[in-house]
Formats: sequence, C-alpha cells, structure tokens
Amino acid sequence: MRDGKTQAELYRQIPNVDDLLGRPHLKELAGKFGRALVLQTAREVLETIRSLIPRDAEKAANLLQPEKLEETIMEQVRQALAPSLRPVINATGVILHTNLGRAPLMASALRHLEATAGQYSNLEYDLAARARGKRDVHTAARLASLLGAEAAIVVNNCAAAVLLVLHTLARDGEVIVSRGELIEIGDGFRIPEIMAASGATLREVGTTNRTRLADYEQALSERTRLLLRVHPSNFRVVGFTERPSLEELVDLARRRGLPLFEDLGSGCLADLTAQGLREPEAKRSIEAGADLVAFSGDKLLGGPQAGIIAGKRELVNRARRNPLFRALRVDKLTIAVLEATLGAYLRGAWDEIPVLRMIRAKVEEIERRSRNLISRLQAAVPPGAAEIELRPGNSVIGGGSTPDQCLPTVLISISSPIRSAEQLTQALHAQPVPVIARVESDRLLLDLRTVYEEQEEPLLTALLHVLRTA
Ligand SMILES: *Cc1c(COP(=O)(O)O)cnc(C)c1O
Repeated sequence: MRDGKTQAELYRQIPNVDDLLGRPHLKELAGKFGRALVLQTAREVLETIRSLIPRDAEKAANLLQPEKLEETIMEQVRQALAPSLRPVINATGVILHTNLGRAPLMASALRHLEATAGQYSNLEYDLAARARGKRDVHTAARLASLLGAEAAIVVNNCAAAVLLVLHTLARDGEVIVSRGELIEIGDGFRIPEIMAASGATLREVGTTNRTRLADYEQALSERTRLLLRVHPSNFRVVGFTERPSLEELVDLARRRGLPLFEDLGSGCLADLTAQGLREPEAKRSIEAGADLVAFSGDKLLGGPQAGIIAGKRELVNRARRNPLFRALRVDKLTIAVLEATLGAYLRGAWDEIPVLRMIRAKVEEIERRSRNLISRLQAAVPPGAAEIELRPGNSVIGGGSTPDQCLPTVLISISSPIRSAEQLTQALHAQPVPVIARVESDRLLLDLRTVYEEQEEPLLTALLHVLRTA
C-alpha cells in the first residue's frame, strides 16, 4: 500500500528516545515512576513501531503521532505496574477451586500474618531459653493435639510431604501401593512419578478396581520398606470394587514390622458428616494406627498452601532430619497463617474458617441472598435485557475431594436475548473485580455459596454493567 519512500519517512519520524523522555508528559511520568522503567518502556514501544512499519505502515504512522505515542507509553507503564495477582469473585460454587487459589484464608489468620511478618518475630528464637529455636514449634503442638499424633512437621505442600516421606523411609527399597490408588492430581502430581523422584521403587499390587490384603502380603519381600495407602481424591471407582480397610493394612504392617503411610490429600480436621460428606479425617487414620499421614493445608483444612506430616515421633523426626526437609520447609508467612487457622480448630470456631463456613452454609440462607440479589438486578436491568431466575443445583467441594460429593444449593441463572453466555462471561472477566461463573446450556449460573456477603455489592455492579451494555 505504501511505497518505500513513505516507509523511509516513517523511519525518520521515529524520535530519539532521549528527546522523547524530555517531553513534559513523559518527564512527569519518569518523575513519578522512575526514569529506568519509562526509558525501557519507551524503547520497547519504539521498537514495536519500527517493526510495524514494513508490515502496516498506516498503523505505524498512527502510533507515531506525538500524542498517541505518549499515551501508548503511559498506558504500558501503567500496565507494567498493575499487579498481576488480583482478587476475583468466585461465583462458581466450587469451594476449593485450584485455579482461584484454593482455600481463601480466615481474617484473623491474616491479622496474625500482618502482625508477625511485617516486623521481626521469634520464628526461630526460643524466648524462654534465650537460644536458637526451631520454626516447627509454632504449629507442632497444635497439630499433635488436633490429630492425636505424637509429632507433626510442615512442608511446602502435600506433594512435598509425600516426596519427603518416601525419600526418608524408602529410597533404597520398595513401596507397595494398590493399582487402584495410582492417581494423578492436577498439575502433574502422579504417584508413580513422585515415587521415582524419591528414589523408591513402586511395587504395584492388585487391579484397578479390586485389591485384596493377600495381594499386599504376596508382594512383601526383604526389599519392602513401606506400605502406602493413597486417598483416590478426585476420582471414584464404582461397582465391583474391593480395597482392604485401613485397619487390615495396619495389622499387616505391624505383623511385618513395616511402617504404613497414608496420603490423605484433603485431610479433614472437622466432622462434616452432618453435611453428608465422607471425607477422610486425619485424626481417624492416626487412631486406626497409620504410622504417618500426609495432607494439604489449603484443601479442606482451609489454611495456607502447606503439607502436613504427622504420626509416630521416631518417623517424623527421621523426615525432619532428612536434608530434603530444608529444601521443602515453609516460611514465616505460612507458619503464621497455619498457626492461627489451627487455633480456630482448637477453639471449635469452624465458621471462622471460610471453607468450612461455605460448606456448612444452609441452602435457605443461600436462597435468601440469591432472591435479594435477583430482585435488585431485576429492578435495575432494562426490561427484556435479561432472563433471570432461580434454580436448584449443586455446589462442589473441589480440591481433590471425592467428586460425587455435592452440596445442594440454589443457582442464579442469567441469559441475555442478544449476547451469548460466552460473551457475558468475557465481559464479567473484564470487570474491575472479575467475576467467574459457570456456563451451562448458554446460561450463566451463579452460586452465592462461594461469594462473600461483602462481595455482593461489587457482584451486583458488575452484573448490572454487563447486562445494561448487553
Ligand atoms: C491434592 C493431593 C495431593 C497434592 O497436594 P498439594 O498440597 O496440592 O501438593 C497429594 N495427594 C493427594 C491424595 C491429593 O489429593
């Protein structure tokens, strides 16, 4: 479209970067955010325009207009400084949503974090003994008492906990696992691979759907170091199935003088049977005689990302002395939040923990909030701009909890005569506080179970904005 001469003119129009930074607006920008960032951004913008000239001279010419150029640089500086990690409104009804940060943290845990991490703390200083201490003490006693365990330590996440235990107890030998428990959790946690990384050899027994105690017995040899039991977490085999009970495995392990280690995944510290949930309680496994258990801090526990290892003191101490522990240990941020969250369990204050409060929320309460939101929406949306109704549905626990365990809820269903649910979703994601909802049969479905009451106002604003401009 443009001839070479015009292109040459455009190249000549590209300003010298120092002259550019001398322009009043950019000078002001550099004064505010530092010359280095503005200089680097200006260079990048000029480079982009330069490479655009041979491909789209018209666009390049447009971008080279002095005002446009300054605007582009200012916008890119603002983008570079805007945080990438942002709050969102989770209206999906998936309580432990791994993409949305799993467990949201309790308010008093965040206050404890702020009070201890914003200044110096006794993280590894024993004030009573006036000597160097261990960071483990801040959570160990609480975990031991809540779990009825002799000892407990904390590492970066449950994957790290499993790796550390396997490496400590079995790196030179075999670990027996049922074929029905060779699971993969999201983002690449696979039992066979973590086993290989630990140096232990996986000895699979049984079949996908049926494994008997005799299968374990037949696989035992002088190379066996550990019996591993894994909670199947995010999948379930139904129908013709069999799996030895924990008690039977404990009995076998005792007879052979071997430790039994259970990877619980989402080890639960609260009794949720009233909510119809059958989640493995970490305390029950220890009571039943598991020598070690491991579970996540940010699944049903409702705390920070962490992996908890609890059980027999001698075994926990061996894991603690493994040099790998140093590489997998948690920082003061995790310890502060975990200590406070465990404190809520000690006080029996389950509803202070957002995950438990959401699981225990009554469907009548969710319905009342939903009706209220719907009537405010309907009052403000132009007639005919949207079809909004209530319908029954299910919330999902998520985070590797058994997939067939759902919580009855009510859903706000929204559809627009002129925009697809996909387009509405896109618009909701672009709001100042992005809203994440479910889409089903071209309708948006919102579950207030996972929406905080104080988020209802921004949620309403976002929905109104999207539906009014629909
Ligand atoms: C979720 C899960 C893990 C991994 O836990 P992270 O804390 O995410 O590392 C390991 N094992 C089981 C059984 C799980 O469900």
